[in-house]
Amino acid sequence: MYILPRLCSRHLRQVLQKSCSRNLSTSSKNVPHVCIVGSGPAGFYTAQQILKGHPAAKVDILEKLPVPFGLVRFGVAPDHPEVKNVIHTFTNTARNERCTFLGNVEVGKDVSIEELQGAYTAVVLAYGADDDRTLAIKGEKNPNVISARSFVGWFNGLPQDRDLNVDLDTENVVILGHGNVALDVARILLTPISVLKKTDISQHALDALSRSRVRKVYLVGRRGPLQVAFTIKELREMIKLPDCRPVIHNNDVKDLNKVIEDLPRPRKRLTDLLYRTSMEPSDTDSQLWAQASKEWELRFRLTPAEVIETEGKVTGVKFYINELQGEDLVNKIAKATSETEDIQCGLVFRSIGYKSIPIDPFLPFDERKGIILNKKGRVENRPGLYCSGWVSTGPVGVILNTMTWGFETGKVILKDIEDGAISSEGKQGNQIIKDKMLSNGKQLVTFSEWDKIDLEEIKRGAEVGKPREKITQISEMLKVARS
Ligand code: FAD
Repeated sequence: MYILPRLCSRHLRQVLQKSCSRNLSTSSKNVPHVCIVGSGPAGFYTAQQILKGHPAAKVDILEKLPVPFGLVRFGVAPDHPEVKNVIHTFTNTARNERCTFLGNVEVGKDVSIEELQGAYTAVVLAYGADDDRTLAIKGEKNPNVISARSFVGWFNGLPQDRDLNVDLDTENVVILGHGNVALDVARILLTPISVLKKTDISQHALDALSRSRVRKVYLVGRRGPLQVAFTIKELREMIKLPDCRPVIHNNDVKDLNKVIEDLPRPRKRLTDLLYRTSMEPSDTDSQLWAQASKEWELRFRLTPAEVIETEGKVTGVKFYINELQGEDLVNKIAKATSETEDIQCGLVFRSIGYKSIPIDPFLPFDERKGIILNKKGRVENRPGLYCSGWVSTGPVGVILNTMTWGFETGKVILKDIEDGAISSEGKQGNQIIKDKMLSNGKQLVTFSEWDKIDLEEIKRGAEVGKPREKITQISEMLKVARS
């Protein structure tokens, strides 16, 4: 009965390892084959977990673009190269002999989720949050009201945004939103060109930014300084921007010192920085800021009511002035009053969040939250179908959070394989994708073909002193992949 206590620890380990690999090992005809849709952090971290946790499982990663890495390539700001180091880990995963990258395959168009389910042991949807939230206010459709998502895609060389018309022939810009993406947009607008040109920012954006007349950026949020969603690292960068002055009004922050001690840790440090920047700037900073030619200003408690247009051109934004309600300091709710305020500007960026869309009508989807309905990564009422990353949680958190969710989804799948809840019997794997792409006359891009694109981009970058010059046209990516 009590055998285990009598085993020495080495023996016990061997027994456990044996029993574990017995559950997870499989005869070659029954090898689990997992299909992951999307090659951003969620896709790669889920793949990593499955490959690590199962001795034989195979993983295919499908990506709608010919190039991998999702928002690490097309979202993370060009002046944050250190964040992109995760690409090395993803590359190691892609080079695992049990992993296959298949680029230029758009699931929902080139192949359906149901077809994939018929061919794979498990299908993981990790296709991110490709759409953006809108305000539904008058004037929002003006071409000079641009979504931060498109602007970020534009300066990061995302093919669908390369031709975005960004009119920087204006001095004042309003950014709606107080998150890190809003700060990324402000930073790119205000950073000296001499700094940007050493990054992998796309050349078309660099050219347009070098002609920019933008001098002042308003960052406007609905709530107060205790509710901002940006983080301290990004705020510090903004405060230290060369030739640029932060404007944080004393009136907005003067009472914060009374509550700082009661705040949870990350919020405490962030609030302290806001307070000190406004109320106690150092002499050195004050002198530098007095000479700066550009500035950014934080504005609080304002809800956009209307984009003001004069003869078709954006000339400002009208805001309702808000009151903050609720007991919880950090979670107060904004309630618009009837009072309004106008801010003059020629360009508006909407940075109020990303959202996912259902890529297949049969997906159980929460339209309001913009996520696939799931329990711990298992899609509701669809055995064998899983989701991971922003499509499962909404667009919250950073790559580190996405990594945790990716690992969790990977573990859930391993458990379902181990428990026999999903079967690999009769599954043909990626042959269906190859057949469908061939019959549609569409080119597949493998990881070694991505290597060619990668090398070409690095070569083009070296010619102009940048780490890389991204190829921004799909047809050109495909041509380089074929070469
Ligand atoms: P994504 O990265 O969006 O990956 C989804 C992938 O699925 C994409 O490659 C997409 O092309 C593909 N796809 C979409 N539809 C289909 C389809 N139908 N078929 C096949 N493939 C499809 N985090 C940090 O830690 N540091 C930062 O500096 C940072 N900066 C950010 C800047 C911006 C502008 C944004 C928006 C986010 C930033 N983040 C940052 C957060 C980070 O990018 C996310 O946590 C992470 O990318 C989410 O991963 P994901 O895999 O869920 O989605």
